[in-house]
Amino acid sequence: MVAVLELKNVHVSYNGKSALQGVNFSVEAGNVLGIIGPNGAGKSTLLKALLKLVAIDQGKIEIFGKSLEENREKIAYVPQRSEFDWDFPIHVLDTVLMGTYPKLGVFKRPKKKDREFAYDCLEKVGMEHFHNRQIGELSGGQQQRVFLARALAQNADLFILDEPFVGIDMVSEETIVKLLKDLRDEGKTVVVVHHDLSKATEYFDELLLLNNQVIHTGKPKEVMRPEIMLKAYEKELSFLHEAGVN
Ligand code: ADP
Repeated sequence: MVAVLELKNVHVSYNGKSALQGVNFSVEAGNVLGIIGPNGAGKSTLLKALLKLVAIDQGKIEIFGKSLEENREKIAYVPQRSEFDWDFPIHVLDTVLMGTYPKLGVFKRPKKKDREFAYDCLEKVGMEHFHNRQIGELSGGQQQRVFLARALAQNADLFILDEPFVGIDMVSEETIVKLLKDLRDEGKTVVVVHHDLSKATEYFDELLLLNNQVIHTGKPKEVMRPEIMLKAYEKELSFLHEAGVN
């Protein structure tokens, strides 16, 4: 079976400083993969490399066995909320409709059935009653749910989300987690950058623990063993030694 995503010896650097070194891993269809690791580990860089938002110095990335260009329509990307301009005046339903644009074409007007489909996607995230609101008026969790609805409207096979749970309420978090699992059950693949370790075993089928290099990959229970986590979080924990705590 062709892997949904395959990275072979991927290196990325910024101004000569390494952000990712020799990254190898692959994901099969029908998985929710969590990418974890400390601040500065290269998690966002990895997503950006997948999407060719940063160039790789070395190595190879294949999506469904092909290049990104041959698969753009199959990939839905939900960036960090902080990367969006929330003052941009756009309604919730129109935000979701933007997800259908690759199929619709930018110059075609959406038809009734496109609007209905966008509304269905809003229903899946429990945001249909907000379809007429300005996106900037919503809470963080509601905004994130609308972004997920936009990704759903794209009808993608691979969903890539960067820190979707940061600064959102519990109801939104639970709604999103359930939806990601439903997508997985439909045979789709979900890749999530995530920094909070407390729920990682619950949320993900597979984990990729990163700290500049791949520290470990596998089932959450296998990756989240203290001796493995220490390898990635050693620096974060060094303050315990400095404070005389052992
Ligand atoms: P994470 O998402 O795990 O916090 P990042 O991928 O954002 O990590 O960053 C990895 C490393 O690359 C860090 O050392 C960070 O400072 C550096 N970095 C990230 N983006 C840039 C950039 N645009 N220019 C220069 N350095 C960057």
